[in-house]
Amino acid sequence: MVVVLSSHSSAFKWKDGQVYLAKCVEPLPIRWSRQLPQNCVPTTITVKLDPSGRWSISLRVSDTRNLKIKPVLKQIGIDLGITSLLTTSDGEKIANPKNLQKLHKKLRLAGKSLSRKTKGSNNYQKARLKLARIHAKIKDSRLDYTHKLTTQLIKENQTIVVEDLAVKNMVKNHKLARAISDANWGELVRQLEYKAEWYGRELIKIDRYFPSSKRCSNCGHIVEKLPLSIREWDCPECAAHHDRDINASINILAAGLAVSVCGATVRPEGSKSRKAGAMKQKAPNSDVKESRAVS
Ligand SMILES: [Zn+2]
Repeated sequence: MVVVLSSHSSAFKWKDGQVYLAKCVEPLPIRWSRQLPQNCVPTTITVKLDPSGRWSISLRVSDTRNLKIKPVLKQIGIDLGITSLLTTSDGEKIANPKNLQKLHKKLRLAGKSLSRKTKGSNNYQKARLKLARIHAKIKDSRLDYTHKLTTQLIKENQTIVVEDLAVKNMVKNHKLARAISDANWGELVRQLEYKAEWYGRELIKIDRYFPSSKRCSNCGHIVEKLPLSIREWDCPECAAHHDRDINASINILAAGLAVSVCGATVRPEGSKSRKAGAMKQKAPNSDVKESRAVS
């Protein structure tokens, strides 16, 4: 269940940093997920009840603070992957958080337990709630990790280049679905976008049809085939040895920087894609920031 309340209606009141729903004398007992900027007044409040029985509220606030931080020189390309959550052109590989694996195991057990209960019974309801709670925990844990990671990446680098992935289309492939939704790619890129804007960094997205994996980052040769199972390869032209993901991220960085300098389009030779090639990140609505709170 989701209810969106606008400040123009009398559905909620904001007083001294507390949220009062209409007709309630007491403020909502909120456990804040982060501090709100001072003197801000929310324009919208979204109240949600998730299947685990947990209420959460999100506030949309106008925040005109300047969060820009000192520029740095570092630039990186990021390859979003499955074996590693992401690989940077520095050669760093970042794995999915370990606790997710444990939670997935719990999830499987809770699912099995639910399937053994009689539908509609008390025990069935209990098991269903338990399953929903684990789902909620996985979601929180993923989001928390993604936030930490994107903040770190943005603070350490002036320019970040990523591939513009159509995650939704890829998730239709059920084999990859769990790995991809676990990786939280869509959310990761979304956070990089708005945090780049907040902190005065640059995020460049390149066309997802750019052959980042199949191109040798040393000599530019493009190999015809490179099945997903091949994690390391040698370039037939220049004999350079490549880690698949590091090579891709180096190509992604180079492609992004080419765009940044001359506005070139990055597209594989012979591509019939009519979608725009690489593009510089458009500034999102800069004075709107979201803050989430869990009650
Ligand atoms: Zn080569």
